[in-house]
Amino acid sequence: MLDILIIGAGPIGLACGLEAKKAGYSYLIVEKGCLVNSLYKYPLNMTFFSTSDRLEIGGIPFASIQAKPNRPEALEYYRRVADSQGLNINLFEEVTALEPVQDYYQVQTSKAVYQARHVIIAIGFYDAPNLLDIPGEDLPKVRHYYFDPHFYYKQKIVVIGANNSAADVALETFRKGADVTMIIREAELGRIKYWTKPDLENRIAEGSIKAYFQSHLTAIRENEVDIQTPTGQITIPNNYVLAMTGYQPQFGLLQKFGINLSPDFKRHPQYHPETMETNLENVFLAGVICGGMDTHIWFIENSREHAVKIIRHIQEQTRVV
Ligand SMILES: Cc1cc2nc3c(=O)[nH]c(=O)nc-3n(C[C@H](O)[C@H](O)[C@H](O)COP(=O)(O)OP(=O)(O)OC[C@H]3O[C@@H](n4cnc5c(N)ncnc54)[C@H](O)[C@@H]3O)c2cc1C
Repeated sequence: MLDILIIGAGPIGLACGLEAKKAGYSYLIVEKGCLVNSLYKYPLNMTFFSTSDRLEIGGIPFASIQAKPNRPEALEYYRRVADSQGLNINLFEEVTALEPVQDYYQVQTSKAVYQARHVIIAIGFYDAPNLLDIPGEDLPKVRHYYFDPHFYYKQKIVVIGANNSAADVALETFRKGADVTMIIREAELGRIKYWTKPDLENRIAEGSIKAYFQSHLTAIRENEVDIQTPTGQITIPNNYVLAMTGYQPQFGLLQKFGINLSPDFKRHPQYHPETMETNLENVFLAGVICGGMDTHIWFIENSREHAVKIIRHIQEQTRVV
């Protein structure tokens, strides 16, 4: 019987593990992929928008060469934290079900069954991309994750989206020799890092990156795509579509666990903001999963504190008087 089982070894799941360990609880972190699986899947050359001190967990210093760390530095940091603190983590083991039994939970994974008095769900939102829902989306040339620009050298690519990820993909692939067209649903660019935005605006203004605003794709075929623009439908030649349209939490899994979601399209999971406890007693949410469809509300910087709140609440609940 564990005191606490933590689902997900992202930065916030690890932060929960650190707090649980500090408080002397028996705990296990169960992760379906590699350590910090989401960060591992980030673009090869990405730089965090946060400075390294704001990505620290458990008060353990994160040193990086520049103020804002890059992906390898972040992977190194979280590996070192897990190692140096001797965190109990099972990797490549997926949690598939959560059942209440008397005063504890039975947690089913792809490899075992565990019993835990408390469960923390820290599963992030990077596993389910927002789909375009148009013909041709299932072609292998359509990608919802981007890794490296070299692959797109001399290729005609369409980048869908107006925020940070789309901006980074458009600029990086353009600089490595791709012919880039952006398709942007809104009338203007969206939330883009202040040091990136002018670069993209200037490339669009000079025409080296083409951009269709207030436009969307209507169909994708092997060698071309159809775009609905304000002045009518056009077809352009195309080799790859990079749909940087964001991601959403695994709502199906949350519902299967028994977590209530708000009935509107935001699908905010139910939890108490002070204790992070959900509608299920002794089951907590931590990290970016808390935002429902509002995936921009929470990030590492401001959700690290969830770990402290949860463990403090468990301590208060279990304190012997
Ligand atoms: C490109 C990009 C750049 C970002 N840059 C920043 C930044 O600069 N600063 C910042 O503060 N935030 C940033 N964010 C946001 C935030 O960092 C990430 O979303 C962060 O990973 C959130 O941490 P988390 O632990 O809540 O979730 P995640 O890191 O997504 O961790 C969730 C973990 O749960 C695992 N998991 C999921 N389902 C299961 C299951 N059923 N069983 C077991 N394990 C499961 C996943 O594999 C994953 O490892 C960025 C996000 C993106 C996409």
